Amino acid sequence: MNMTVQPISNQVVLHVEDLTVSFDGFKAVDKLNLYIDRNELRVIIGPNGAGKTTLLDLICGRTRATDGLIRFKGRELTKMPEHQIVRAGVGRKFQTPSIYENLTVFENLEISYPGGRSVFGALTFTRTRAVTDRVQQIAEQILLADRLQECAEFLSHGQKQRLEIGMLLMQEPELLMLDEPVAGMSVPERRQTAELLRQICKGRSVIVIEHDMEFVRSIAHKVTVMHQGKVLAEGPMDQVQADPHVIEVYLGH
Ligand code: ADP
Ligand code: MG
Repeated sequence: MNMTVQPISNQVVLHVEDLTVSFDGFKAVDKLNLYIDRNELRVIIGPNGAGKTTLLDLICGRTRATDGLIRFKGRELTKMPEHQIVRAGVGRKFQTPSIYENLTVFENLEISYPGGRSVFGALTFTRTRAVTDRVQQIAEQILLADRLQECAEFLSHGQKQRLEIGMLLMQEPELLMLDEPVAGMSVPERRQTAELLRQICKGRSVIVIEHDMEFVRSIAHKVTVMHQGKVLAEGPMDQVQADPHVIEVYLGH
């Protein structure tokens, strides 16, 4: 069994310790420890059913832990409701894009601005310079600056995925978690997303769950391999790929 690599403690923003969730006696996450630094892009890999998505569900408060703790910037998240975890700076992207198909790219980004217009409260909203500047800045980052007035339903799959990342960025999360962000994307779209992820981990922490090894190699600072709810191996990509346990349970298939 590999030793878990622990970054220097003063840089760690997310501490996950002995985290466990039991579904009718089945431990989907089992005494898991994970430490993520600021500015770090961590990729989590592992076979189907390893508990990767459940781990993100636990961090964002969608699923409640049976045991253990999750501390983000010194605050304990395990008892907080989901919306409070969002306000604490945690953003989460699910596997399927959840954008508003009938709104424009601009409007999708605009409604994601914290305290900005809600889909229901259009009349009370004043479109401030701060919002439009931020929309423009994010649109450039996600390579959709030339599509701002386009209805979101006409975007390609890759563009929709990037738009959703942009909607999360509007909230300036300090921890961004993305579940299989390049599933179904073409090779050029994967490259664009890899470049975007390399940029957006600056000044925050990013956790990505991914299967595509070429993509993982192109973005990961460190890789955590999960198996049966536990950490099987952790470290730089080369080290993890050469690990006999990892080859046996995951990469060998
Ligand atoms: P991964 O994302 O690594 O493929 P998941 O986290 O989705 O794995 O699932 C881990 C295991 O936990 C699976 O066996 C899954 O069936 C089980 N599981 C996930 N959520 C629940 C739930 N709400 N109730 C019961 N079992 C669940
Ligand atoms: Mg999953």
